[in-house]
Order: sequence, then C-alpha cells, then structure tokens
Amino acid sequence: MQLLVSGGAGFLGSHLIDDLVSKGENVTVVDNLSTIKHLYLPEKGVKLVKEKVENFDSSEKFDFVIHLAARPSPEDYMNNPVDTALSNSLGTQKLLEIARKNDATFVYTSSSEVYGNPSIVPTPEDYWGFVNPIGVRSCYDESKRFSEALIMAYHRQYNLDVRIQRPFNVYGPRLREDGTYGRVVSRFIYQALKGEDITIFGDGSQTRAFLYIDDWVDATERIIFTEGLSGEVFNVGSDKETKIIDLAKLILRVSNSRSMIKFLPSRVDDPPRRAADLHKIKEKLGWYPKTSLEEGIKKTVEWFGGAIN
Ligand code: UDP
Repeated sequence: MQLLVSGGAGFLGSHLIDDLVSKGENVTVVDNLSTIKHLYLPEKGVKLVKEKVENFDSSEKFDFVIHLAARPSPEDYMNNPVDTALSNSLGTQKLLEIARKNDATFVYTSSSEVYGNPSIVPTPEDYWGFVNPIGVRSCYDESKRFSEALIMAYHRQYNLDVRIQRPFNVYGPRLREDGTYGRVVSRFIYQALKGEDITIFGDGSQTRAFLYIDDWVDATERIIFTEGLSGEVFNVGSDKETKIIDLAKLILRVSNSRSMIKFLPSRVDDPPRRAADLHKIKEKLGWYPKTSLEEGIKKTVEWFGGAIN
C-alpha cells in the first residue's frame, strides 16, 4: 500500500510510520519540519518531502492520505495563530483534493479540542462542543472544527471515503519537552529529571485523560485499515481522568525526583476537565487502551532519562 502522511515527522507520525514501515507499507511524508527538533523517521521505506502541506502536490498514486500535520502545543499555536489556522484549514483542503484525485481513503487526526469546554465528561463523539470562537485557542479549535466540516462535505458531495479521529492528550517517548513546544507530560518529566520546579498552571485541579503512544498507533491503524468506516468519527483517548497535580506527583515519584511544585497563573480558556467516552471505538473496533498511566509514565521517564543524559 502507498500512504501519504502529512506531519509524519512529528511525535505521532514518527511512531505510526515506524509501525507501518515494519509491516512493509510504503510511506511518503510531507512535513515542513517547523516544530521538529530530532528526526526519528526510519531510514528505509519512507520518502520525506520538506514542504508546507498547503503547498504540497504530487503525481504519485496513494491508497491512503493520513492528515496529521498540526501545531498541537497550546503555547506554540497561540504564538503562531495564523499559521495554525491556515495549515488546519487550507492544508486539509489540499490533502482532500489529493485523496479525491487518487480515490484514496482520507484519515484525519482532529483533536479533543473540538469539544472546547464540554458539559459532558467523558465526552462522547455526538457531543457538539462548547468552544469560544474568538478566544486564544480558537485558531486551533475552530480550524480543527472547520476541517471536520470540510471533510464531511467532501464525503457527502464526492462520496470520498473519510474517517476522523479525535485524539486526547497522547504522550510517550519523542515528545518535545522544550520551550513552547512542551506538553504537560514531557515538560513535567524534563523538569523532574533536571531537578527544576514543576510548573503547574492554576491549582492543578484541571483534568486530562492521557493515552500512551503505542495505544494510539494501534487505534489509528484500526481506523485506517478497517473496511466500512467511511464518514465515521472516533474518540481515541482514555476515559480515566487525572488531575494535573496528581500527574505531577506521579512523575515525581516515578522519576525519584526532589523537584518542588510551583503554581503559576492559569492559562486562558484552559478546559477544566477532559476525558474520552470510549464506547463507540470499543464497540466498533474492539479497541481500548492497554497501557496504564503509571506504566506509560515509567516508559516515558526511562526514555527521557536516556535522551537527556
Ligand atoms: N500544564 C501545566 N503546566 C505546564 C504545561 C501544561 O500545568 O507546564 C497544564 C495545562 O494548563 C493543561 C494541561 O496541563 O491544563 C495539559 O496541557 P497541554 O499543554 O499538555 O495540552 P492541552 O491538553 O491543554 O491541549
């Protein structure tokens, strides 16, 4: 099979591609490497095109178009709102056209951000979302929502085979820990291993539900390769909510760190609770996360220990 993966050099993409290539698939990656510090792509079985998704075109034949490209770190996308909004909208349109030309299956990695600040947690796929359309997160949330709408328009108007997943706080080895790119897990682990203060925004009572990368790869491959899923949307996450303060304590314990916890002002529009309702993906694809948070954090701490030292 020939797969085109946008944003394939990023955290999610590099793990997915490792697995696809090990199974003999051929992958073309389009990635402008704008958020990349280290390239983890396998040496064989992958062709890398360094290009913005919005500008990409190709006469190659693809069976699947997997659209991952995005800038998911809130601090990073708030610093780059125009680029974020455009790659999440124009980029999607570009790849939909490539999928249409090839009659390929189109798989979109949307985001749990489309739910905004939901009133139902764990949140099921049929919840419509509660999003601030002009807030600091809107460049990301609303462009992800627009992408979903455009994808469904291509499905309805052109009968394109499309599948949408909404990942929830995926973590694991290879996540960036530095600067504005750091997500909560990678940043806390880095701080714990370096003996720096653990920076909690707000009082740490806000929750997230974390998913280990191997479980995400498994769910994503099921969404890509299972027949008969056209037009379907799936949450890919965990249904177990963890308070950010409890995540900090777990990371301190697992990494044997003496770092102190430092409380900083809350982020604007930071969703207070987030978790995935997993009934649909469990029923339709037989998928449920296998890795506990403690086990996943141990593996991630181990990897960061090697990467930092
Ligand atoms: N967070 C934190 N300290 C940090 C980074 C993040 O307390 O240094 C919190 C953040 O306020 C949010 C949660 O951790 O409630 C998850 O943040 P992340 O940036 O990983 O992504 P989000 O889920 O908000 O998109």
